[in-house]
Amino acid sequence: MSLRVIAEVNLAAIERNAARLRARLGSHTQLCAVVKADGYGHGAAPAARAALRGGATTLAVATAAEAAELRRAGLDATILVLGALSDEELPLAVAAGAEIIVWEPGFIDALRPLVAGADRPIGVHVKLDTGLGRLGTRDPERALATVRAVLAGGSGMKLAGVMTHFATADDDLGFAADQLRRFKPFVAESRALATGELTVHAANSAALLRLPDSHFDMVRAGIALYGGDPMNHDPADHGLEPALELKSYVAAVKPIAAGQSVGYGRRFVAPRDSVIATLPVGYGDGFVRGLGDNCEVLIGGRRYPVRGIVSMDNITVEAGLAAPVEVGQQVTIIGSDGAQRQTAEELARRAGTISYELFCAISRRVPRAYHCDGRPCE
Ligand SMILES: *Cc1c(COP(=O)(O)O)cnc(C)c1O
Repeated sequence: MSLRVIAEVNLAAIERNAARLRARLGSHTQLCAVVKADGYGHGAAPAARAALRGGATTLAVATAAEAAELRRAGLDATILVLGALSDEELPLAVAAGAEIIVWEPGFIDALRPLVAGADRPIGVHVKLDTGLGRLGTRDPERALATVRAVLAGGSGMKLAGVMTHFATADDDLGFAADQLRRFKPFVAESRALATGELTVHAANSAALLRLPDSHFDMVRAGIALYGGDPMNHDPADHGLEPALELKSYVAAVKPIAAGQSVGYGRRFVAPRDSVIATLPVGYGDGFVRGLGDNCEVLIGGRRYPVRGIVSMDNITVEAGLAAPVEVGQQVTIIGSDGAQRQTAEELARRAGTISYELFCAISRRVPRAYHCDGRPCE
């Protein structure tokens, strides 16, 4: 073990998760793999390919640059840009042949000159804000006016879909049901206006798992694809398989006497004679500071408590309580070691966050190593 910290990504797990999610959908419902933020830290292009192998048919990202990156990596599937597009980003999205989301008739005026003369029409989705309160219009009449503007926008664009996004599908299904009730009349009126095929979509991972009535023609799944649990509990509850393991190694081991301290701020003062192991991973790698003195890591199939503050490049573990550890031993931060398993969700709860954020926090400094069930992928 020579790498200080590494994220091992099992692409076969992503493929199987996609197939498992696909199996929860009706035959007419497509699976859109959300690979924004570099595939939730797993690597956008490899994750996208694995999801497509598992039965996803379209991809989604948050930004125009992310769409362009997937194109550069050779992915030719439909890509939907979920985020807002500035005047500077819109031409990038168009150049990548991505589909975009709009909610005001004014967007169509900005789009028209960019797409005039394009060899293929740009797919446009109209977003109704049914309760999340971020992007989209809350006014169904304005959303319908936007639908009409797209339909009248000329040959450079086509109405590809209508959509909404849930605020509480991971939590309050009552409010999610309210959102669905607000969405459905807009869907019906859009279907009546549409001249071509219309893809209606609303569900994220949580709604995919918990609200079958929200599946419509497509679901947009992110976290579940990576084997994360949108409810921040145990992905195994939904038959999902975590795809990422975060590993480091023991770089130093030394005794500590009662009363001596470890780390910045002397946060940990040893209450007894013990042993401290130093691991070369810190918040600069994505091991967030909220985990200081607040979690365990797995070494040799056992759990060891993290002691003291998390620094940028190192953490310290008390190794004097269980079996002795040795320099060079592998450490599992997220993943399994023998009978022990630590999910990103468990760590996230301790840090007061969600697994999404822990995955996105894994920094560029951490190499990603791809495999398929422990073997090289084809
Ligand atoms: C990120 C995102 C998703 C995916 O959410 P998950 O909870 O990861 O499944 C779906 N739709 C939109 C609009 C998003 O921004």
